[in-house]
Parts: sequence; structure tokens; C-alpha cells
Amino acid sequence: MPPKKDDHMEIDSDSDISIDLEHTSKSKGKSKASKSSEKRKADKGKSKAKDTQAYTWEASFARSWETVQEDEAGSLQTSVEDLMARGRRRRLLAPASAIRRTIIRHLVLILDLSASMTDRDMRPTRFDLMLQYAREFITEWFDQNPLGQIGVVGMRAGLGERVGEMSGNPQEVLKSIADRHKLEPTGEPSLQNAIEMARSSMSHLPTHSSREILIIYGSLTTCDPGNIHETLSSCVSSKIRISVVALAAEMKICREMCDKTGGQFGVAMNEGHFKDLLFELVPPPAQRAVTRTNGGGSNNPAADLMMMGFPTRLPDASPPSLCVCHSEMKSQGFLCPRCLSKVCDVPTDCDICGLMIVSSPHLARSYHHLFPVKPYDAVWVLFCLFRECALLTGL
Ligand SMILES: [Zn+2]
Ligand SMILES: [Zn+2]
Repeated sequence: MPPKKDDHMEIDSDSDISIDLEHTSKSKGKSKASKSSEKRKADKGKSKAKDTQAYTWEASFARSWETVQEDEAGSLQTSVEDLMARGRRRRLLAPASAIRRTIIRHLVLILDLSASMTDRDMRPTRFDLMLQYAREFITEWFDQNPLGQIGVVGMRAGLGERVGEMSGNPQEVLKSIADRHKLEPTGEPSLQNAIEMARSSMSHLPTHSSREILIIYGSLTTCDPGNIHETLSSCVSSKIRISVVALAAEMKICREMCDKTGGQFGVAMNEGHFKDLLFELVPPPAQRAVTRTNGGGSNNPAADLMMMGFPTRLPDASPPSLCVCHSEMKSQGFLCPRCLSKVCDVPTDCDICGLMIVSSPHLARSYHHLFPVKPYDAVWVLFCLFRECALLTGL
């Protein structure tokens, strides 16, 4: 790249350039060992690149290596830590104010299992990377949204395929995508079939829970049996939020789906960016976005009270009995406070009476999204730590 830039500078005839030309010729005349002038030249080149770009793509080209500075000992460790801390802080700062969010979430993850996923532009293949990130995403998603449920749908050979039923148990969801041989990519994807399948699995859900679809899409085509715009409008009317992470390029229909339903759209530029786009969807979405795009009469849906039960945990030594969810003999489990039937895991909906069974830590963990903790002052924390140490050591 650098020789090209120099050519460009010499050809250009801006008044600004003349200084630069003078400068470059001067530094050319000098011996190469002169470090300071070299550095100045580099600086000059950098500012020039900002002023007049030879190519448009250079505009988005961040010279990340130039922001990294060595410390006194010549180590990059502090710079790297600083960058990481900055990233963490940015994530913490993002939801600074209290926003109305849906904490009981229902998400259908639609995975592209078409032939285009065997492409190797992302290492090792798009398919393997998608599965790996999907697993990490599911784990993180359940950690942040313990009251949520995820279902998995695959798109291959022109059909929508139910890979995993809607479940609030992360282990069950992970198990559904654990075997990669069952998900081997083939044929064309069908957006419409997959979305219709996802929509039908969420049609029974109560209004206080969110309905979301997340599509990981590697193809540039879709093979649909009917008009996908009808599917889109039915998604809008049933308040389903569609988000798409594309791996190839932007497709108009994908962008339209996200815009109309209030979801997010992004095209992954590389492996890291793919993960970032996916993990941006982990925190619960703000509810106002949906109401705004729908343009309904009321701006804020009424707040309803909903019934939840705190279950009784059975001790491990209790006599084995049948659970209502799997019909298996087990000692451990939880008792529904309303109908006293036994379920294996919480949070869940009771299979007998339909009551939502949650434990208080789950509720507390979801609650922090509604009232985010104010960003702390790093100095104050250090002071507190110091004080804590002083108290512990009796100083
Ligand atoms: Zn069970
Ligand atoms: Zn019950």
C-alpha cells in the first residue's frame, strides 16, 4: 500500500500537498537512519490519508496497531488491558438509563443449513463457526435471560426443519445442536418456510412475553413457496421481532424484515465481527422499538400483573417419584406451589396447571436489565478495596 499512496501524493496538486512533497523529498535526500523524520513522515502520511483518500475503502480502515503504545518496559500488556477495559466499559455504559424491556423472552434461532454454509471464507467453515458461536450465544443468552426460552429451526433443502423444541433449559437447547452430523448443510434455504414454522411455534404465547426470531443467514438466495411479504406482514401483526446476522452480504428482504419488525440487521465482516453481532442480541430488547415500528394507537402497552410461583425444592434424599415433564422416576426436583406436581427444572411452565415456576435468583438476574447499575468510578472501587483490606487486616 505505501508506494501507491506516495504516487498519489506526488501527482496531486493541492496546496496542502506541496508541503508534503517538500517534506517527502527532504526526507528522501536524508539518510534512512533518521528516525524522527521517518516518524514525522509517517504521521504526515496518516493525516493525508484522512484528508484525501486514494480509495474509498481506506475511510473505514482503522490503523489499530498505531493506537497500541508500549509501556516503559517495552511491553504491550498494559495497552492490551486498557483496550479490553475500554471495550468492557463501553458495553456497561450502553444501557445507562432505565428502559422498559421484556424480561420474559421467547426466541427462535433459525440456522442456515444450506450448501452455502460450507463456504470457507470464515474459518474453519461458516457452518462450524456458526455452530460454535450458536452454542456460546445460547449459554450467554440463558445466563442473561434466565426466564427466557429458545427454540431452534434449521433451513435446508428448501424446507424449515424443527431442530429443537422451545425450551427454557440451556442443556436441552445445546443438546439439539450438539450433533453436527445431523445438521449437515444441503440444498437451498427457505426463509419463508422457516419463519412460518417459527411463527407457529410462538403463536400461543401470552402478550407479556417477547417473540423474537434470530436468523443466521449465509445464503444470498431464498427458495419460497409463496409471497414472503405476506409472512412479513403477519410477523409484524403478531409482534415478532426479526433480527438477521448475514454472513455473505446484505439482502433487501432481510433488511426489510428487520426494519419493519424492529430487529437488528448486520453483515459479519469477519469471525470476530460475527460474534459481536450475535452477542449484541443477548440483552433484552427495549420495548419501545416494537411499539414505534408498529405505529399502534397506544404508545405504551399496559403493565399487567402476572402470576408466578416459587417452587419447593425436594431434598436429594426424598423418595423417588414420577416427574410430570419427562415421566421419569427421580428423587430430586421441584414442586409446583399450586398443583404440587413435580418438575425437573426451573424456570419452566408447569405442565399440569400452566403456572410459571421461577426461582428468586432467576428473577433477580433478569431484573437488573430493567434498572441497570450506574457506571462506577474506577478510583472509588480501588479505594473501597483498600478500605476492605484495611478492615480485614485490622489496620
Ligand atoms: Zn422431568
Ligand atoms: Zn402446577
